[in-house]
Amino acid sequence: MRERLGVKAKRWALAIDARKCIDCKACVVACKAENGVPLGHFRNRINAESGGEYPRLRASFEPEQCHHCASPSCVRVCPTGASYQRGDGLVLVDGDDCIGCGYCMIACPYDARFFNPETRIVDKCTMCAHRVDAGRQPACVETCPTKVRVFGDLEDPDGQLRRVLATRRSQVKKLQTGNDPQLHYLL
Ligand code: SF4
Ligand code: SF4
Ligand code: SF4
Repeated sequence: MRERLGVKAKRWALAIDARKCIDCKACVVACKAENGVPLGHFRNRINAESGGEYPRLRASFEPEQCHHCASPSCVRVCPTGASYQRGDGLVLVDGDDCIGCGYCMIACPYDARFFNPETRIVDKCTMCAHRVDAGRQPACVETCPTKVRVFGDLEDPDGQLRRVLATRRSQVKKLQTGNDPQLHYLL
């Protein structure tokens, strides 16, 4: 029986300090290796921006993956209930119920989902739920050499995530969607 929206013991989320990102893509490689993501598909990405004129060039990098929204539009549109949210906030896909219709891919404002040609179901970042449930950090969090991501429980007032969010200003993306995304980008 799957755990759905319900009793809130924990609320997993990420803070992201994009200024620390050096675009090494270790997180992208780690995610693919950890989760067997097929060639040509990704559960996370680094959004890059560049500008300026030589020799004053500038570049910035911003990691992104599923925002594990508190009010996820992907879950709302799924006709079979395959996309669901656990009590700890993680948004997952039950492969047994996914019919690959792709409604959730269209409904996601963050382009976080893709159709996995090997499993024939819709795929996305799971926040490495299998590791989290075993008391470990997600692979991308653990691998990053500059520690861009802080993973933790928003319900834990003494936890590292709450401490970071209390001391740094942060923002979420596309607040207007009403999805209440849970990737908190540090400013
Ligand atoms: Fe950026 Fe860290 Fe990913 Fe490297 S591993 S690309 S520094 S987020
Ligand atoms: Fe769903 Fe997209 Fe939000 Fe992830 S980012 S929970 S796939 S709406
Ligand atoms: Fe990939 Fe896990 Fe990071 Fe999600 S949390 S992007 S599944 S490594």
